[in-house]
Parts: sequence; structure tokens; C-alpha cells
Amino acid sequence: MDVQDTAYDAEVIVVGAGPTGLMLAGELRLAGVEVVVLDRLAEPTTESRGLGFTPKTMEVFAQRGLVERFADLGIPLQTTSRGHFGGLPLDFEVFPGAHPAVQNLPQAYTETMLRTWAAELGCDLRRGHTVVGLADTGEYVDVSVETPDGPRHLRTRYLVGCDGGRSTVRGLAGFDFPGTPATLELLLADVRGCDIRPRFIGEWLPGGVAMAAPLGDGVHRVVVCERDTPVRRRTGEPDFSEVADGWRRLTGEDISHGDALWVSAFGDATRLATEYRRGRVLLAGDAAHVHLPAGGLGMNTGIQDAFNLGWKLAAVVRGRAPRSLLDTYHAERHAVGRRLLDNTRAQGLLFLGGDAMQPLRGVLGELTEYEVVHRHLAGLVSGLEIRYPTGPGRHPLLGLRMPDVELVGDAGTTTAFTLLRAARGRGLVLAHDDAVLRSARPWADRVDVVTAKPATGIPACDPPPDALLVRPDGHVAWAAPGEAEELTEALDRWFGPPAARAV
Ligand SMILES: Cc1cc2nc3c(=O)[nH]c(=O)nc-3n(C[C@H](O)[C@H](O)[C@H](O)COP(=O)(O)OP(=O)(O)OC[C@H]3O[C@@H](n4cnc5c(N)ncnc54)[C@H](O)[C@@H]3O)c2cc1C
Repeated sequence: MDVQDTAYDAEVIVVGAGPTGLMLAGELRLAGVEVVVLDRLAEPTTESRGLGFTPKTMEVFAQRGLVERFADLGIPLQTTSRGHFGGLPLDFEVFPGAHPAVQNLPQAYTETMLRTWAAELGCDLRRGHTVVGLADTGEYVDVSVETPDGPRHLRTRYLVGCDGGRSTVRGLAGFDFPGTPATLELLLADVRGCDIRPRFIGEWLPGGVAMAAPLGDGVHRVVVCERDTPVRRRTGEPDFSEVADGWRRLTGEDISHGDALWVSAFGDATRLATEYRRGRVLLAGDAAHVHLPAGGLGMNTGIQDAFNLGWKLAAVVRGRAPRSLLDTYHAERHAVGRRLLDNTRAQGLLFLGGDAMQPLRGVLGELTEYEVVHRHLAGLVSGLEIRYPTGPGRHPLLGLRMPDVELVGDAGTTTAFTLLRAARGRGLVLAHDDAVLRSARPWADRVDVVTAKPATGIPACDPPPDALLVRPDGHVAWAAPGEAEELTEALDRWFGPPAARAV
């Protein structure tokens, strides 16, 4: 167990107040962990970057009651059941009952929502604080920070680098970040004052690919990828005239009179940290993985990294679970990261590969007519088919996300996500059988034990389980029929020893 007497400035320091750091801070605060978030920016960014959520991220938000918060902040959500894989259209309705995706929502709004939530939970966010050094002694981590009031030193039990693709924490803590450098460059601008025809998943043109999406308030996102353009070594952002010239060469349309709100360049550099944890330092989000933003998966993956890590780190910090629980963060999310890199590389080839890829696009397009292929690709880009090795047992739901199905029990009818939301970062045992309910009760301080079972069933799971253990991140860790000892083994594994046995 990981309980110590040293004085700390915070139990956990999170570096970076982007979507990953804010999600993690909120999850840690839900469990009562003292969190300080440091961000070098004096003010939040207004960049639109990640433009929406996959169905899996929407499910994550729904499990914490965060979807409604957008409406509370006056931010409308544009939902869709459509997605694509490298430009091949997909329909997420192959997953009945799943939450829809959200499109065309600037990342700055997502950060506002998460920041408000984390602040309400008591998160201490310090802006204008740049991490410049760290030392992991094995007992704690000392962090050197440049602040508006001069240099400061902070001590913490765990440090999490959520500080983006150029992560300082990653470099300072000696993480390896192998991969491939960029082979192409795409230019982007958010532009107001131009009437631009939407090209949501891009338009293949003789000179390359042009994308356009409306962001509201008369603003359009345009992305230009001209074929055979060498990767430039840039010291700053490109000029809007470069984007407008490229747009004209590709589409013949003139947008040079537009008012550019944000101009940027990005590429297909693809890298993955070999470890997500070194001692007391962890990585999450872009700090752990960078890739072409094909299919809009980067921010989504970061939010889901945070959702996987938060409850585990909280359990270790609270002394309820052994440090080895953190190894499951690496095991589960590094595997997702590896798949993400393959997925975005494949999408990049299909999408940006030019005429040479046309026969492959044709064949893959035909294959997506088969439901099993469609479901496989939709599972990849929606995140709904992520399966963690939660074991033990052989139930088909094991390791998958718990769908938001209707449940009936002693307290009437409810839904799985209503219960997860009420559990506020704790686990759930759903059962009718007295023996199952009894065996889960010793963990009642960290798991809500509820008399309930699926009202009509669970999609693609026939017969539905009689009882379930759902982790705080909504993944199924045990399902009946299965051995009763498997349930106590799973509770022990994911939640530490029961209160009576705790050290
Ligand atoms: C053009 C473009 C389009 C994209 N489209 C999508 C999309 O549609 N969907 C999607 O899911 N993703 C998309 N992405 C990717 C998405 O923007 C990133 O994956 C996401 O921002 C990662 O979030 P993060 O919190 O991990 O890191 P970041 O958002 O990069 O946040 C890192 C934070 O750390 C802070 N920081 C950095 N260094 C330090 C330091 N030393 N000390 C203190 N603070 C520090 C920074 O100020 C920043 O606030 C896109 C990206 C680009 C560039």
C-alpha cells in the first residue's frame, strides 16, 4: 500500500489543463484526492482543435452527468450517428442504444465545460505555472515550476504529465517516445466571412484533399492537404495567405478576403511512449501518443486515458489498492494507444494517399457493406469495442463497456448510466441473487451494491447476465453466470482488499 507521512503540496500534481488534465483532475477530486493542476498558459486557449466526441467519449461524459453541462453553459451539441474511416462512411447505429457522436464543437468549449466541473469539485488550477524540472525520489516527486512570482518547488506523491504532444514531463522523466516523423503537412484555418460549402469528411481533388466544416457564428474550419508538398521546418504558425492560396489551388475558390481567427499547420508524425508510468510519474493524452488527427480521435483518447487512470490513481493514493493497480493503466491504455496509431496511419493512407489508394478505397468500401466489417470499423473509430483484459471468467461482456441499458430492481426502473452517475466514481455490483449481493457487501465503501438486472436484455449479449461488476470507468469486470469466487477475486483485484482485511 502507498501511504506515507511526508508533507506534500498536493497528493497528485497534474501538468496541463487541456482536456486530458481537466478530466483527470475531476475524476481525482470525485474520489477526494488533493489535486493541483499546473498550466503554463496565463489564460485558457481559444483554439478550436478537437471538433467533437466519439460515442465512447459521450458515454464517459454521460456516466458523470457532463453531457447536460454543455446546455447549462449555453453550448449546443450537434449530434450524429455517422462517422467515417479514412473517408469511408460508417453508421454507429450498428451499436443499438449507444450514445451518438458530437461534431463541429470547438475544443475550447469542451475545456470550458471540464474546467467548470473540475473547479466545482475543488480542483486547484494554477495558471502561468510552467514545469521546468522534476525529481522522482521513489518516495515522492519534487517539481520545479516557473511561476509569475518566481521559481517554486512543489512536492507530490504522483505527477501526471498531461502536457501535450511536446510534453516536458515526458522528456524530464526519461520516457522513450519512438515513432516516425511527419511525412506531410496539412494547413488549417478557422475563417469568418466566407461562404464555404461543407466537406465534412473531405473532398478528393486532383491536387489533394480539402476539408471544411461550419463551427457556428459564421466561422468555418478549412483544412488543406496538397499532394507532394514537402514538410516545412516552421518556427511559428503559417500565414493565412498560405492557407488561402492552397485552398484556391485545390478548389478554385477564393477565401483570401476572410477573417482568419486561427491558423495552424500539423502533420502525420506518429509516436507512442513505450511506458505510460515510470515510478511515480505517469503520462496521459497527447503526452503519451501523437498521430495524424484523422477521424478526430486524439482528444477523445486523452479523455478516455484520464477516465481509465483517475479512479485507479485515487485508489492507490487513498491507500486502498496496491501500486500494481497502476500497471493496469499502462497495460490497458498503451494497447489502446498502439491500436490508435495503426488506425490513424491506415486512415491517413486511405484519406491522403491520392489516386494510388483509389482501388483500395473501392474494395474497402465494398467490404463495409458486410455488417461484420462495418461493425469492426465503426467499433474502431467510435471506441465502443474497446475491451480490457479485466478477467476472470469467460462471459462475452467481460472487459467491454457496460451499455446504457434499462435495469429493473427493488427501487424500480433505472438505467446503467444513472447508477454509474450516482456512484460518483465508485464501482457497481448489480445483482438479484442474495449470495452475490452478500459477497459484494464487504466492498460497500467503494462499490455501490444494487439490486437490479437488465429489464429486457443487453444488445449482442444473449442471454443477458444475471449479475455484473462494473468498474468506475464503466467496463465490466465480472458477469454471471460465473463462479462466485470470481466475483470476490475481481473485487479484490480492482478495488483492493475489503475494509476488514485492509492494511
Ligand atoms: C488541427 C487539429 C485538429 C484536431 N482535431 C481533433 C478532433 O477533431 N478530435 C480529437 O479528438 N482531437 C483532435 N485534435 C487533437 C486534440 O487537439 C489533442 O489530442 C488534444 O488537445 C490533446 O489534449 P491534451 O489535454 O492531452 O493536451 P493539450 O490539449 O495539448 O494540453 C496540454 C496542456 O499542457 C500545457 N503545458 C504544456 N507544457 C507545459 C509545462 N511545461 N508546464 C505546464 N503546462 C504545460 C499546455 O499549455 C496545455 O494547456 C486535433 C488537433 C489538431 C492540431
